[in-house]
Amino acid sequence: MDCIFCKIVAGEIPSFKVYEDERIVAFLDIRPVNPGHTLIVPKTHSKNIFDIVAEDWTAIADVARILAIAIEKAVSADGINIAMNNRPDAGQLVEHAHVHLIPRKKGDGLKLWPQHPYPEGEAEKTAEKIRSAL
Ligand code: AMP
Ligand code: ZN
Repeated sequence: MDCIFCKIVAGEIPSFKVYEDERIVAFLDIRPVNPGHTLIVPKTHSKNIFDIVAEDWTAIADVARILAIAIEKAVSADGINIAMNNRPDAGQLVEHAHVHLIPRKKGDGLKLWPQHPYPEGEAEKTAEKIRSAL
């Protein structure tokens, strides 16, 4: 399979690895929002949140907590965003599941998503749809 993150996991293309265990590799994003921007990936290929196995997702969550603490300290960040893009229409460019750890600096100018209030009655309908889909 022609997957750039599988190649990083296998050591076939270079990366700046910051963490590795039996399930997980974490390495620096090549085009960081801020220095220290890190990607956490499972060693076993999955595309995104919709097909990742529970054990890999749990391992990513554990490593995200540990790395967030280390990254904040290492780059003297003022905070960290943890994000995951799933499917192309959600901004996913690399189709190997990955979680971004993005260290933030006060006043770095990164804008997050715009938000809007629900129209009357929509919040309850939406909550019910989600509960029914579980
Ligand atoms: P996403 O939009 O969530 O799929 O983000 C993919 C991320 O992978 C982007 O932030 C890229 O900068 C990063 N990226 C792509 N190729 C590499 C690479 N070879 N090494 C490190 N990061 C990469
Ligand atoms: Zn892959």
